[in-house]
Amino acid sequence: THFGYQYIPEEQKEKKVYEVFENVASKYDLMNDAMSTGVHRLWKDSFVKALAPSPGTQLLDMAGGTGDIAFRFLKYIKTQEEKIAAARQGTPEGEVTPMSHVTVADINKEMLKVGEMRAEKRGIKSGISWLQANAENLQFPENTFDAYTIAFGIRNCTHIDKVISEAYRVLKPGGRFMCLEFSRVGNPIIRSLYDLYSFQVIPVLGQVLARDWKSYQYLVESIRQFPDQDTFKRMIQDGGFKAVSFENLTFGVAAIHSGFKI
Ligand code: SAM
Repeated sequence: THFGYQYIPEEQKEKKVYEVFENVASKYDLMNDAMSTGVHRLWKDSFVKALAPSPGTQLLDMAGGTGDIAFRFLKYIKTQEEKIAAARQGTPEGEVTPMSHVTVADINKEMLKVGEMRAEKRGIKSGISWLQANAENLQFPENTFDAYTIAFGIRNCTHIDKVISEAYRVLKPGGRFMCLEFSRVGNPIIRSLYDLYSFQVIPVLGQVLARDWKSYQYLVESIRQFPDQDTFKRMIQDGGFKAVSFENLTFGVAAIHSGFKI
């Protein structure tokens, strides 16, 4: 009765993924904290810190969902601007200048809706826009963005190579691609503990907290299907990116991949 990831024919994946995130949208943030015991927050902090955006950056946060990366980006920029202002004359400006901007793009309307509500609650009014878009086929002209981020999104896409080539196309020369995604734990002992946790505990948490076993079963299986660090690095290189590198987080449970359009 559950739809095992491996049994989803390619032509049905997009629809199934849409349904999963439609189902989980309202509980998405709570579930992330419950399943990762808050660790996803630290990974996302590390991710934005590794990007180290400077004021003026035009960012496309693809599969941006409920805005976790976008909010961190805006906060990071604001801190940078305050530092610059303080260095200039000791009076921090506080506001994000309209020059920096993040476009949060996601295929799922429900996820975007939750994100927009969160932005409103936080009093974020400028420097951000929300857009329904498919990462495999973007409506932007080439050379549009300085940076492209995708956090825990690419494994949900049907054609990873298309996502990468679209990222390449919309980035300006010199622009940076960064991906945060679940990856492969190298240490066999840690890996077996992690497998036990994810296969035995996560779907149960999904059932208890969100009354939704299937969606969380899908999430666990999609993580196992995603290519390991080196394979994914090669895929990014095949997409044309240069100086491609990765950094493991928490024994390789997640990894940050980075590449440049030169
Ligand atoms: N980036 C957010 C975060 O880190 O919290 C959300 C990650 S969530 C696990 C995955 C997101 O990918 C969902 O919001 C889903 O709708 C989106 N997604 C799946 N397939 C997509 C596609 N083809 N194009 C754009 N977004 C997609």
